Amino acid sequence: MSQNIRTVAVIGSGTMGAGIAEVAAMAGQQVLLHDISADAMTRAIAALRSRLESRVAKGKLSAEACERGLSRIVPVTDIAALAAADLVIEAAAENLDIKKALFGQLGEICPPQTLLTSNTSSISITAIAAGVKHPERVAGLHFFNPAPVMKLVEVVSGVATSEEVVTQLSQCVLAWGKQPVHCQSTPGFIVNRVARPYYAEAWRALEEQVAAPEAIDTALREAGGFPMGPLALTDLIGQDVNFAVTCSVFNAFWQERRFLPSLVQQELVLAGRYGKKTGQGVYGWPQGAAEVAFYPTVPAHRQAESVQKERDVVTLDSVLLLETHGETAQAAATRLQRPVVVMDRSESDVVVIAAAASNRLEETEKAIYWLQQQGKKVLLIADYPGLLVWRTVAMLVNEALDALQKGVASEADINIAMRLGVNYPRGPLQWGELLGWQRVLELLENLQRHYGEERYRPCSLLRQRALLESSYES
Ligand code: NAD
Repeated sequence: MSQNIRTVAVIGSGTMGAGIAEVAAMAGQQVLLHDISADAMTRAIAALRSRLESRVAKGKLSAEACERGLSRIVPVTDIAALAAADLVIEAAAENLDIKKALFGQLGEICPPQTLLTSNTSSISITAIAAGVKHPERVAGLHFFNPAPVMKLVEVVSGVATSEEVVTQLSQCVLAWGKQPVHCQSTPGFIVNRVARPYYAEAWRALEEQVAAPEAIDTALREAGGFPMGPLALTDLIGQDVNFAVTCSVFNAFWQERRFLPSLVQQELVLAGRYGKKTGQGVYGWPQGAAEVAFYPTVPAHRQAESVQKERDVVTLDSVLLLETHGETAQAAATRLQRPVVVMDRSESDVVVIAAAASNRLEETEKAIYWLQQQGKKVLLIADYPGLLVWRTVAMLVNEALDALQKGVASEADINIAMRLGVNYPRGPLQWGELLGWQRVLELLENLQRHYGEERYRPCSLLRQRALLESSYES
């Protein structure tokens, strides 16, 4: 059916509109580019030309394909010209009044079969469609920045959107060489909702002064396998933009505590420290994060006389080295009446640990010595329940399950969205399966007990999956 989409109109020629126009034009569609500012259109087309020409210079694109692509983009100043489009993609300012006014006009101008879509990241598609003629053809088409590079497009249904429109849009996304996922119009759609804990847990760790920012980032990147640490990522996205998305999701969910914005991040925003674009954010740019300080090599006289390893527990004389279950090291040490060191999940040679305050230094160093002998680079942080990787992944799994249970999207689409929209090493629901639902539940229950906060409450579907898992095991 996407063969029927020959002409695409793009409204707004800013960052996203220009990128979307490039995607459609390079896929062979005629593009009508419209903006209230004629200057903005001229600038966008000039920038697009120079981007494509640099690809030609690098041998990544032929000169003919570049010229053909550019010739397909026609700037139009009169919105009435959009009547010729089969698909309209609105990428104007993120403002409901502006979008409602535009869609109201489009409903009048365009024939009933024209698909009307918005690239909004946070506004309800249902609200945009309300009052538009034939609201069943209104949907969200949420691209990620930069649109020509990022593979994922969220196809978003409002209350009135028809299934046929979703099918047509998904086929069109595939024809662009991109991956569609389908979701309902709920705050943050899939990616901007499920990704919230990735940032929130890092701000929390910073707020509780658990570790230096570069240690938090190194843990998530090296031990967690994420492409970029959460704090460096917010510097790249822009603290202002990332904070605004968090506030928007928080408010849209009636101030749900799980999404509570961070005061530490707010301070950066108030100071104008937006990150890479202003030269200062969490880090100073362009240099970025400083080298992380791993624990120095522990001398051989700390070697334990007896070492026993059983599943995720290593006993080094009297010292227990345990993988975290969400308790602090001190809680485990008090309960077990022994020196305890807790260890985070790690997919590399970097491992995060924390020691009970009641340990003697030589006891903690027995564990560190053993880890270093296994070739591990050790990051010792404050005694923090759930540490860094385990806690973040458990919260991502919990959020993904909550979205699944509430019908936001299918299990497969949630996994795809998080792998392609934010390049996570695994889909969060695949991760939950791998770690074990009971284990994720136990970690969150321990966090909730420790803090007494609603933020860490396990969602209902996690409890159900954990129960089912235990019944299969028994
Ligand atoms: P931008 O500020 O770079 O560009 C917006 C453009 O829209 C400007 O050129 C402006 O002149 C034009 N415009 C404003 N009102 C208009 C109107 N009434 N009619 C026609 N043109 C109008 O913004 P952007 O970053 O490209 O974002 C555009 C949309 O895409 C927003 O809804 C935003 O939430 C969404 N989005 C942005 C990103 C991102 O990373 N920037 C990612 C996904 C989605």
